[in-house]
Amino acid sequence: MQTLDRSELTKAETIRVSALHALAYCPRLFYLEEVEELYTQDAAVFAGRRLHTELEKQEDEEWEELFLESGELGLRGRLDALRTRDGQTIPYEHKRGRCYRDENNQPQAWESDRLQILAYAYLLESAHEITVKEGRIRYHTDNVVVHVPLDDAGRATVREAIQQARNLRKSTYRPPVIDNERLCARCSLAPVCLPEEARLAHNKEWQPIRLFPEDDERQVIHVLEPGTSVGRTGEQIKITRRNQPVETIPAHQVGQLVLHSFSQISTQALHFCAVQEIGVHFISGGGRYLGSFDSRQGSIQRRIRQYAALSNSETCLELARKLVICRGQGQRKFLMRGTRGKSKTDKLDKAIAQMKSVLKQVPQAKSLESLLGFEGNLAALYFGALPDLISKEVATQLHFAGRNRRPPLDRFNAMLSFGYALLLKDVMNAILTVGLEPALGFYHQPRSQAAPLALDLLEIFRVPLVDMTVMASVNRGQWDVKADFEVRGKQVWLSELGRRKFVELYESRKQETWKHPVTGYSLTYRRLFELEVRLLEKEWSGEGGLFGQLILR
Ligand code: SF4
Repeated sequence: MQTLDRSELTKAETIRVSALHALAYCPRLFYLEEVEELYTQDAAVFAGRRLHTELEKQEDEEWEELFLESGELGLRGRLDALRTRDGQTIPYEHKRGRCYRDENNQPQAWESDRLQILAYAYLLESAHEITVKEGRIRYHTDNVVVHVPLDDAGRATVREAIQQARNLRKSTYRPPVIDNERLCARCSLAPVCLPEEARLAHNKEWQPIRLFPEDDERQVIHVLEPGTSVGRTGEQIKITRRNQPVETIPAHQVGQLVLHSFSQISTQALHFCAVQEIGVHFISGGGRYLGSFDSRQGSIQRRIRQYAALSNSETCLELARKLVICRGQGQRKFLMRGTRGKSKTDKLDKAIAQMKSVLKQVPQAKSLESLLGFEGNLAALYFGALPDLISKEVATQLHFAGRNRRPPLDRFNAMLSFGYALLLKDVMNAILTVGLEPALGFYHQPRSQAAPLALDLLEIFRVPLVDMTVMASVNRGQWDVKADFEVRGKQVWLSELGRRKFVELYESRKQETWKHPVTGYSLTYRRLFELEVRLLEKEWSGEGGLFGQLILR
């Protein structure tokens, strides 16, 4: 049996002073960091670290970083500096930014900074059994030092905050977003908290602003050549291909590693990717998604909420309806787009009209089985009309006469299948990044190897990322019917050359931006994966209504 030693137990029971700082800033921030274990290291965090390193160099005479812990108080923390002035021991905290100014323009501490320095002062008293009369905060941008006296009221404030933190730690309920929007604009966790989207969920008139980057610029490295080995050298990923110079890429530039066919990865590289939160994914030589290695587990509280929500058949049915409408609308809009400026065919017209009438019935579906029926009808109409979008100049070998798979029987289907495998990999990556359980979905049942939640989310992106990419490249004449494909009997696969071409097309499509129809701001597709997973989670967190709205115009 595994046992914890005393220091581990104390650590589990005590609260970090920096967590109290987060609590005073916003209870939801505390919850996301301490309970859901979500951290982002944004520019402000790195700037703060740099400041401390610089200070250490400048002031090494007086500098004394000190780790303190008090089981009795239930606190632990690392003091920035401790100094003695006029016989008094005074803890110091350094802040890079500006101080708060009161109505007389006098420098004051921000509320969260005030609680933090009070907590350090009280912790110092408790751990070292000395009297501490005050703490000080130096705001470097203003070059001012603010004195914060520690009195009984201050001690009581700290104890109350510790109690509030303990209560929140036990809760499965994520606190709501705070009213003060200006704090959200400076919050490092805004990209995962999505406060603006939560406000929109409660108020349809709200016009959200985007509080996170439009794009994720980290590369997705596809290792396509069999026999390639991937390793680690220092802080870099090292790729050794047969008969080619070794390639090295700094880890911070890499978001995913995708190993196709029989390429190798070393244990050291896997450890490194786990630490750096780089998703590692495997695709078979036949173009099938095999699985992922990812150490991001997600906190148990989030999974408990997911289990609770998706154990409810009504919730599942409601989400599945949204999904079927989203995919069906996307398919229909794509067919409609294909008719713009071209002569419409009867088949296209009929399919578009019939899809409209099927889509009208979806909101009334009473069970997942009846939804499957509607989805099947929509797919049959869509794939039946899709060949009419192919230009007459396209070689007959690239034409499409209906969906087939496992194995694909023609070139068009070979491209679709490979594209859906890449898409499944990206959706899995987003689910693992967010920390949901991929094996528990709301529509697809656990029949195949693929994770049901990933199959659910895949439906949203099939048309814009794969179907449109394949159709556009075919109509632009980008494919070589011989060199880009391998035909084995009746089966057709993309050749290594074809796979490389497809990966380039797919990855460049992911870099394109799409204005989200509900939030109103633009994001690249590669960011939209993650946003959609986070919006799904909001469906069972009291902030729903935005999931499954990514429909082509
Ligand atoms: S984004 Fe706003 S609501 Fe969310 S944790 Fe940060 S401060 Fe709190």
